[in-house]
Amino acid sequence: MNPLEYNDTFKHRGMRKKLVQHLREKGIQDEKVLQAIVSVPRHLFFDSGFLEFAYEDKAFPIGAGQTISQPYTVAFQTMLLDVGRGEKILEVGTGSGYQASILAQMGAKVFSIERQRSLYNKAKKLLPQLNYMVKIFYGDGYAGLPAFAPFDKIIVTAGAPYAPQQLIDQLKTGGMMVIPIDDGNDQTMTTLRKLDDGALEIKEHGKFRFVPLLGDKAND
Ligand code: SAM
Repeated sequence: MNPLEYNDTFKHRGMRKKLVQHLREKGIQDEKVLQAIVSVPRHLFFDSGFLEFAYEDKAFPIGAGQTISQPYTVAFQTMLLDVGRGEKILEVGTGSGYQASILAQMGAKVFSIERQRSLYNKAKKLLPQLNYMVKIFYGDGYAGLPAFAPFDKIIVTAGAPYAPQQLIDQLKTGGMMVIPIDDGNDQTMTTLRKLDDGALEIKEHGKFRFVPLLGDKAND
């Protein structure tokens, strides 16, 4: 039997509705995003000892020195991404797999890449169990997934020093990337849209704090 049927209770659903109410009050108004947050059982992306923290609006450790992003940040990035059903989306930084599941819940075809082997292994096992059909890859997100490009959208879920050219190259014309770009202290949430002439339309959307996007996995 699907583990979801055992573990996603009435109480958990109530906690998700409360979280969504909180996100609304913080300014998230995109109903498709809020509906996905109501649907995806965030607590199942936590180790069982920490379930009580799953519906707080906070980032939380997931092992390997990494975190599952704060729900507000997930909602904000997803809102900026403006997900359409059937769109092909690349996520850099699978982590727990929660953000990828939100995108899959919204009907996107999701490809996600993670450089930490233990997190990759865990997400690759968990997501099919929860019926989220995400293609998960172990590798360096700076390089993206050229074999599967181009993508309609790209979302980077770690703080990047800059928008990697290889990722820009993997965007369709008209496509968009959401990426938190580091300014030394925290990150500026940035959207880059690839215009018809190949130029980028760049917009900034405020400050956030992420774990860093790390270099080649072979180096540590
Ligand atoms: N999206 C995740 C989730 O829903 O749980 C949270 C992402 S966490 C804030 C950032 C993730 O980016 C970590 O899992 C980290 O290992 C990963 N990461 C860091 N540098 C990377 C790189 N160069 N390529 C791929 N993943 C990377």
